[in-house]
This record gives sequence, structure tokens and C-alpha cells, in this order.
Amino acid sequence: MATNWVEATVIENRQLTDRHYALIFETQLLPFQAGQFVKAQIEVKNDEGELEKFANPYSLINAPEEKHSEIYFNTVPDGKVSNGLAALKAGDTFDVAQPCIGFFVLAQIPDAKHLWMLSTGTGIGPYLSILKTAEAWERFEKIILVHAVPVADELNYSELIEQFAKEHPDQFQFISIVSREDHVDSLKGRIPALIESGELEAKAGLKISADDSHIMLCGNSGLLEDSKAVLKKRGMDRHLNRKPGHISSEKYF
Ligand SMILES: Cc1cc2nc3c(=O)[nH]c(=O)nc-3n(C[C@H](O)[C@H](O)[C@H](O)COP(=O)(O)OP(=O)(O)OC[C@H]3O[C@@H](n4cnc5c(N)ncnc54)[C@H](O)[C@@H]3O)c2cc1C
Repeated sequence: MATNWVEATVIENRQLTDRHYALIFETQLLPFQAGQFVKAQIEVKNDEGELEKFANPYSLINAPEEKHSEIYFNTVPDGKVSNGLAALKAGDTFDVAQPCIGFFVLAQIPDAKHLWMLSTGTGIGPYLSILKTAEAWERFEKIILVHAVPVADELNYSELIEQFAKEHPDQFQFISIVSREDHVDSLKGRIPALIESGELEAKAGLKISADDSHIMLCGNSGLLEDSKAVLKKRGMDRHLNRKPGHISSEKYF
């Protein structure tokens, strides 16, 4: 399908930390699957000071049937799109590419008893969309959402996560990990090391095993590569349609 740019109007651009934003906007999205991403395009000054359009992908946080669309992003130093999006105010417009795309969706996840959703930073985004769908709760006995951040201030979307926990008390667990400071109730360190040491499983009270677990990984390349290496030692490999496995991933950068 050809890419078609459509206009999006900002409803609210909520600054959550010094570098994190929840951008809520209205646009005409074609039907999409929870976990997919949208390409956002804005016109900003290039390095020569001329106006130029730049585009990058962002996962949708909203469920497919929700009226408003939402992305969760952080600014990166000198990043054209992220800083351009951060500067948007209610009523401003930008472009989004249609249709939404991506394979980090439940339709690509094989059946398993336990679904582990592991994320760093804004990589929690696609899971929030997926957890808003009925299918997630129908297909898996247990869902463990893991969010790793450098400082506790970046544990955003806690109200929504608490809502999932309230609605699915026996099925859902949320585990936060903070790497650069001590935080009550959070594990400290990095996801791959906490898998290797067994601390993540101890906190969940569940084993990660090739027999009954599927692992989703979303975030930076360090999370993806190092987790895959640790999981490989447990006989867990990348899931492909032509070669079923135990790990599905989405790399942000
Ligand atoms: C499939 C997909 C989905 C994505 N979804 C999201 C999302 O939901 N939220 C989100 O914040 N980002 C997401 N990203 C990253 C996003 O597309 C941009 O790369 C990011 O916002 C930086 O864009 P930029 O134009 O400001 O900077 P660029 O000039 O494109 O990048 C500058 C540098 O920043 C690094 N970088 C990219 N993303 C990050 C980041 N998040 N944190 C730190 N450094 C980074 C890049 O490696 C690059 O070296 C996604 C990427 C992909 C591939």
C-alpha cells in the first residue's frame, strides 16, 4: 500500500518529565493493530537554517478504537523530529503517514502460557496499546510488563498501568526497574543482567522458560541484543513465522 500523508491536529502535548512527552492528537487513521507505529513528519529548520520536512516512526499508545491517537516520546539531543514534536502546542498540525505499520502485534505472537513484555524507556508504548485490547487478556494466563528506566521520575503512565492491575489482579504483574538510583519496589540494574541473575523471575514469582514463555522486547539495541544473548542460553530464540521461537522484538534505535 502506498504511503499517504494525512494531517494531524494536536489536542494536547503533555510534558511528563524534562524530556518525555505524551502527544495526543486527532487524525483520520486507517484501521491498525495495537502495537503498530505511525510515521510522524514535521517541518523544522535543517542544519543550514532552511525549512525541511523530517519524519520518524512512533508507536501508538492508544487502542485501535480510541477516538484520539497518542504517542509517547523523549527528545534526543539535536534530534529534528523529537524536538520538533516537543515544541508542538494544542491546535498545531503535523503530518502522519497512513497506513500504520509494524509487526510487533499480537497476531505475530505465538501461543504461550506467560507473556513477558520487556521495555526500556519509551519502548513501553506498544505494550500499553496491546494491553488495552481484549485479545491480550484472552490469550495469556499471565502477562508480566517490565519497564526499565534510568530514574524513577521516568516511570510514566503509572495510572494506566495501575488500572490494568486492578482489572486483572491475578493475571497481570508490573515490574519496574530503575538503573541509576534506589527506588522502593523497583529492581535496580539492567534487564539482561536481572534475567541472568534470576532477580527478575524472583520478583515475578515466575520462571522464564522455553516451555511456557514468550518474550517481547522493545527499546534500545542494548536491551534487544543482550537479552537475546542471555535468553539463548536458556534455549530461547527469535520467533519467525518460518521458524517458531520465543522472542519477538522492536528496535527503536
Ligand atoms: C519502529 C520504531 C518505533 C519507534 N517508536 C518510538 C516511540 O514510540 N517513542 C520514541 O521516543 N521513539 C520511538 N522511536 C525512535 C524515533 O523514531 C526517533 O528515532 C527518535 O525520536 C529520534 O528522532 P530525531 O529525529 O529527534 O533524532 P534523529 O536525528 O533521528 O536521531 C538522533 C540520535 O538519537 C538516537 N535515538 C533515537 N531514538 C532515541 C531515543 N528514544 N532515546 C535516545 N536516543 C535515541 C538515534 O540513535 C540517533 O543516533 C521509534 C523507532 C522505531 C524504528
